[in-house]
Amino acid sequence: MSEKFDVIVIGAGPAGYVAAIRAAQLGLKTACIDAFVGKDGKQALGGTCLNVGCIPSKALLDSSKQFYNIAHNLPVHGITVDGAKVDLNTFIGRKDKIVKQFTGGIGQLFKANKVTAFFGTGKLLKDNEVEITGNDGSKQTISATNVILASGSVPIELPFAKFDNKFIVDNAGALDFTDVPKRLGVIGAGVIGLELGSVWKRLGSDVTVLEALPDFLSVADTDIAKIAAKEFAKMGLNIKLSAKLTKAEVKGNEVALTYEDKDGPHDLVVDKLLVAVGRRAYTDGLLANDTGVKLDERGRIVVDEHNHTGVNGVWAIGDAVRGPMLAHKGSEEGVAVAEWIAGKAGHINLDTVPWVIYTEPEIAWAGKTEKQLKEEGVPYKVGTFPFAAIGRAVAMNEAIGQVKMIAHAETDRILGVHMVGPGVSELIAECVVAMEFKGSSEDLARIVHAHPTLSEAVHEAALSVDKRAIHKGN
Ligand code: FAD
Ligand code: NAD
Repeated sequence: MSEKFDVIVIGAGPAGYVAAIRAAQLGLKTACIDAFVGKDGKQALGGTCLNVGCIPSKALLDSSKQFYNIAHNLPVHGITVDGAKVDLNTFIGRKDKIVKQFTGGIGQLFKANKVTAFFGTGKLLKDNEVEITGNDGSKQTISATNVILASGSVPIELPFAKFDNKFIVDNAGALDFTDVPKRLGVIGAGVIGLELGSVWKRLGSDVTVLEALPDFLSVADTDIAKIAAKEFAKMGLNIKLSAKLTKAEVKGNEVALTYEDKDGPHDLVVDKLLVAVGRRAYTDGLLANDTGVKLDERGRIVVDEHNHTGVNGVWAIGDAVRGPMLAHKGSEEGVAVAEWIAGKAGHINLDTVPWVIYTEPEIAWAGKTEKQLKEEGVPYKVGTFPFAAIGRAVAMNEAIGQVKMIAHAETDRILGVHMVGPGVSELIAECVVAMEFKGSSEDLARIVHAHPTLSEAVHEAALSVDKRAIHKGN
């Protein structure tokens, strides 16, 4: 007889581990299976996010920002530092320590909440049985009333630029370079390309980003993307739009690229190539043929609005299903599913999931862009406020960018907020709260914001929707 659980979670990324902890908190006997192997060869919980995604990339972004500021920000404050150097071993080592701290922390949380962790690959069989294949090839079967699939995503590979993780790398490779590449090529000016491109640019790489689309950062609001593009160009990120890679060949210690744009084919030689053209749901080996779980045309597990697959007791969450591939989206789905399983009122609103890009300046948004509202024929009004007129931002020497708020023209309900500038990764939270409470720009305009803070830009943008911002012409 196989061991029986109330809930089995396959995958211990931010979607799966959170689902497992919440299920256990609710008194359900819970198991979580994960196959990820850390740098030390042992099981490392936390999935892409903790091991090779959110956390390590933010660690490197912060370290590289400190270094960049020495030459580019401190002199304005009257501080000069001669001979600043980066010790890459310490730089990468600090990141590895943070990763270990957090992946180990999940193990401790599992123990504290009595979640049983299995190390290996889980395969859903018929009737909610799950076969676990250990990394040594051993097999065992467990079963549960409910199974939550949280197998995450992996980088998309281009057939003509296959990862060798030495010269042509994915996100994991670009978090672990042993030298600062003199010339770094990046394919894709998306979130990973911009964040990891920034890390290595700040350390001195000559970074060229090739983006296939004609518009820069087309997922963001057009005004915000325009401001960001200008700042990235100032920083020296060389972003080429409408540039399609056609060939990448490792020759000796270099990668020879050919790409095409409106002027025809071009050659480019780089020392390392990061391919960051998006991620795909990962379901390899996850499902036996007769489970009844369906995949859509993009290989994502099909679920309804309650993350149920349509197969009795089988749910799916996180990057493996529709919606933005963001850690917090997966985690909230995990909580909601655990609560639905326990007969409680779970909640997830995909319309207010905030996006943050941790570049300099940061970019953050929630809700609809102006372009989307135009396409949907929704009447709207816009308020904006520049950080150049915010005392705190000027004092920090980071008075770049703006907050843009979009509200319904008739009801004043906030439909979207888009920001580029200092600290916007934190400022967006206030706007998400307002949107979740179906707030209006008037609501935010009437709330007292501390002075001098960056949050005054949100307050003034809300006032500006009604053309009554105080510190700018309306
Ligand atoms: P994953 O984190 O991918 O975890 C899935 C886990 O399941 C993995 O451990 C995998 O090994 C395991 N698994 C898969 N199949 C099986 C199986 N059959 N059996 C056992 N185990 C299995 N998002 C943000 O919100 N903020 C950020 O700042 C951010 N930065 C990022 C930076 C980078 C470089 C990258 C690559 C991603 C970043 N993301 C960020 C995205 C974020 O990492 C993902 O959205 C998130 O990790 C998805 O969580 P998940 O649990 O669905 O999947
Ligand atoms: P992405 O979708 O953000 O960007 C990929 C970019 O590559 C797009 O601009 C696309 O037009 C371009 N592209 C696609 N094919 C191309 C080709 N052949 N040549 C040139 N350009 C091409 O994907 P990503 O940067 O790989 O990141 C994957 C996902 O991971 C993100 O969408 C996001 O969900 C998540 N992520 C989030 C964060 C964050 O929240 N800060 C950070 C990193 C990653």
